[in-house]
Parts: sequence; structure tokens; C-alpha cells
Amino acid sequence: MIELSRADISGASASGTEVSGNQRELYQKRYGGDTYNTAYYLAQCAKSAIDVNYVTALGDDTISADMISTFSNAGVNTDLIEKIPGAVPGLYAIQTDENGERSFLYWRSEAPARQLFQTPQSETLKAELMKKDWLYFSGITLAILYPKGREAFFEFCQAFRAQGGKIAFDINYRPRLWASEDEARSIIDRAYAICDLALPSYDDETLLFKVNSPQEAIDRITKLGAKEVVLKNGAEKVYVHSHGQTEKHAIVPATDVKDTTSAGDSFNAGYLYARLSEQDTPTAVKAGANLAKQVIAQTGAIVPVTPPTF
Ligand code: ADP
Repeated sequence: MIELSRADISGASASGTEVSGNQRELYQKRYGGDTYNTAYYLAQCAKSAIDVNYVTALGDDTISADMISTFSNAGVNTDLIEKIPGAVPGLYAIQTDENGERSFLYWRSEAPARQLFQTPQSETLKAELMKKDWLYFSGITLAILYPKGREAFFEFCQAFRAQGGKIAFDINYRPRLWASEDEARSIIDRAYAICDLALPSYDDETLLFKVNSPQEAIDRITKLGAKEVVLKNGAEKVYVHSHGQTEKHAIVPATDVKDTTSAGDSFNAGYLYARLSEQDTPTAVKAGANLAKQVIAQTGAIVPVTPPTF
């Protein structure tokens, strides 16, 4: 998506000038979105060792073209991005209230990404995806797809797994994107049932599924079928369930927190990077936490990072 945020510029020409009764404010344009954030951080870690592809649909306008070259310059393969003539990318603006609290305004009801898996190019996309080893998506992916595309996507996931593909999933629950909690619960549980690696956050699990403890969240998700479950909880312990056992890993609280946007997305990238590099789960938690700590010490969803080493 296109991200607009207030440009941090001082000077009389940038702010405070009245134009026809309107206050002039400058906004800067960046690009982001939860799954792209993870793709970006995975690409920063893996360099060319892992072919990180990003799948979305954009338009045929100049901003869409710039988005694609920005992603590509960051090391993310953009070959599978669909371009839909006449469509324009989704957009969000970050607003900050008088207490410094950030919130988001969205213009995405007609974002072309919603059409994925139901466009004429879908068969080609599925054939290409079928050649990959891992597929990562989130609750936002599921929420924005139209019902027909979502069903086609779930069908694809079954076929992908049947031929050996692995699936990673982060709930990233955004209430406003769903018609009801019941709808969100039933669709998200279908994703848990088909994923190999679940990467939920405890906040989202309590909000949607009303669980009362991290262990209860883990038990609920493993019962649905997910084999490896990694439950993130801010500066609290990360719970990892794999091979029938749950381990708890302490997180060293960050002393320098500027902006927690993308904490979970970057953690997921570090964790995946380690697991795809055949590291064990404690090493993967360290890699995820290391990356997230670097990200929250800076402002913005997409920031430069030093890859964790193992
Ligand atoms: P989300 O962005 O999905 O809400 P969390 O807030 O649970 O994700 O954080 C994801 C990860 O980011 C945590 O598991 C931890 O590794 C790291 N993290 C978040 N907040 C802090 C913090 N205050 N100190 C250290 N690490 C943090």
C-alpha cells in the first residue's frame, strides 16, 4: 500500500502557510503493508540465499511502477506482482493525535490486491507459486480477498501442501477489515488448520479468541493442526510449541523504543530466516527478537537492519 505520513520538515514554507483558508501540510509517500514488511526483512537477512517473492496486485499507474521498483531495489523479487489496468493501489495515512498516539486512515476498499486469486492471471500465479517451498500470508491477506478469491486461495493452499509446500501464517487481526468477529474466527481458524508454522501475537489471540493465557492460545492453535506455533507478546516471553512441547524464551526488554510498527512482521522474518537456514527454534527466536529490536529502535515500518548471524 501507499503510506502517507506527515513530513518532518521545519521551516515557514513547509507549514503554517495559509492557502485559500487551508493549512498547508507536507506528507511523505512510502510503501508498506504487513506481508511486504516481512518480505522486506527476510530479503535483508537472506540476501540472495533465499528467493523472496512478493505477491500482490497493483495498477498500471506511475506510483504502482515506482512501488515495484522500490520493492525490487530492496531485494524482493517482484515477478509475481499482477498489474491490473485502471486499478490504483490502496492507500493509508498515519495521523498522530495531540498525545503522540498514532492511528491509521485507510483507502483500500477498491485496492487491486483484493482481486488476487480471481483475476484472469490467477492460473499462472498459482502455477508459479506451486514451484516455491514456502508461502507466507496473514489475517490481513484473508480479510482483504473477496470471498471467491479467498476460497480459490484456500484451495490452492491445500494443493500446495499436498505436493510438499510449507505454509507460515500470522493472524494480524484487524477488526475493521472483517464483517464480524464470527467471520474472522472461522476464516482464521481455517488458516491455522492448514499452516505448518503459526506466528500469532498474544494480543490478537486475546482480542479475537478471548483466550486467558499464552498456553491456552498455543493449545487452541495446535489442536487445529498447526505444527509449530510461535506466540509473540511484546517484551514478554515468546512461547514456541514444536514437536509436542512448549518452550518459553525470555525477551530482553528494549530500552530504546521509538516506533513498534512492524515489530511482529520483522520478528517473523528473522524467525523464518533462521528456520529456513535449518537453525533450531531457540536460535530462530533470538534471530526474530534481534531483528524486531533493531526495527522498534527506529521510526517507520521499513528501516535498515543488520541481519542476525548464527
Ligand atoms: P506485534 O507487532 O505483532 O504486535 P509484538 O508486539 O508481540 O508484535 O512484538 C513482536 C516481537 O517484537 C516480540 O516478540 C519481541 O521480540 C519484539 N518486541 C516488541 N516489543 C518489545 C520490547 N519492548 N522490547 C524488546 N522486544 C520487543
